Amino acid sequence: MSADQLRETRSDLQKLYDALCAAGLKLDLTRGKPAPEQLDLSNALLSMPGEDYRDAAGTDTRNYGGISGLPELREIFGELLAVDPKNLIAFGNSSLELMHDLTVFGLLGGTVDSTEPWNSGRVKFLCPAPGYDRHFAITESYGIEMIPVPMLPNGPDVDACAALTADDPSIKGMWAVPTYSNPTGVTFTEEVTRGLLEMPAADDFRIYWDNAYAVHTLVEAPPTPLPVLEMAAAAGNPNRVYVLGSTSKITFAGAGVSFFGSSTENLDWFTGHLSFKTIGPDKINQLRHARFFGDADGVRAHMAKHREILAPKFRLVLDILADRLADSKVAAWSEPEGGYFINLDVIDGTARRTIELAKQAGIALTGAGSAYPYKEDPFDRNIRLAPTFPSTDDLRQAMDGVATCVLLAASETLLA
Ligand code: PLP
Repeated sequence: MSADQLRETRSDLQKLYDALCAAGLKLDLTRGKPAPEQLDLSNALLSMPGEDYRDAAGTDTRNYGGISGLPELREIFGELLAVDPKNLIAFGNSSLELMHDLTVFGLLGGTVDSTEPWNSGRVKFLCPAPGYDRHFAITESYGIEMIPVPMLPNGPDVDACAALTADDPSIKGMWAVPTYSNPTGVTFTEEVTRGLLEMPAADDFRIYWDNAYAVHTLVEAPPTPLPVLEMAAAAGNPNRVYVLGSTSKITFAGAGVSFFGSSTENLDWFTGHLSFKTIGPDKINQLRHARFFGDADGVRAHMAKHREILAPKFRLVLDILADRLADSKVAAWSEPEGGYFINLDVIDGTARRTIELAKQAGIALTGAGSAYPYKEDPFDRNIRLAPTFPSTDDLRQAMDGVATCVLLAASETLLA
């Protein structure tokens, strides 16, 4: 475009934007929450387990105890997370809680491979970016230094990770979302996974293998989960991996069940610490989840119902992005096969402005830089879109508005 054409386009976009603001919208694309219709899929849970409150082994789930969780539920999710059920515990309603506790226990007491508590010295974590803001919030809140590493189309940049961990024993952890990553939608390949498991690092270096979206597919089937604990053992680093997952986006986001898988040594260490904070998890919730699903195929069938609700929403967003932004080439976006997000990259230096314009028009987007450690997007280009919660009509309006804001911000920058 010539400068004159650009000025004209900018003035057209300004009119479109003024009309958008005048529409008085109040729309929210910020958080990856399940929509009410998705939650409805699990309403049968609300009246379970009824009077039949004993598990398969005859344990009275109403009572105290059973820190490792119900065996029948661990059996089901062991298969889905590729973890031997003996090495998987079922816990409370949040995997984030487990990640928080794993970190705090490491800081205060060290891991089974530590010679001293992590916080005896400087502590650093590798943070593939863009990544999950709440992961970064945990490390930031405890003063752990976060080192961003690039997220590539097949997973984190292993060479960059290895170059850092090989020389720096104060790197104690790494955040990782191996399936349909938040927010890029990237699934780690076997080669990348092997690289992370084999790379030289401190003995007490831990990868938080947060498989939050293991079964959350938008296509026929999710990728086959890698037996990451077995692979870690084969690589000579049996204690390196903490596998995490939950039913938050399978059943109820606020009342699901979380899972933690790891080596026997790590599990004993973790449950030892856990036993000081609780006498056992909510086994009634675990029992109703086990009965609700029956087996791993029950979970897969249930996820197919989620897909029916979600796939059209993702399609809608992708169609609007293509329709409004493809020609002008001012943005690039992911086309995820699963997970909860679409990753939108706008022209460098315009993400913050786009988000601000959207806010003024009544469309809430996740804060600028949220997907980066310390909220510092080095290029000011990344925007995380969360299409799951809004209704289709709201989503259409919101995305059309976002596209206008992306274009307006781009034209402003190009004319500056
Ligand atoms: N891990 C990832 C990668 C997520 O995106 C989310 C929620 O958005 C969570 C964990 C939260 O899990 P939970 O509800 O089990 O605490």
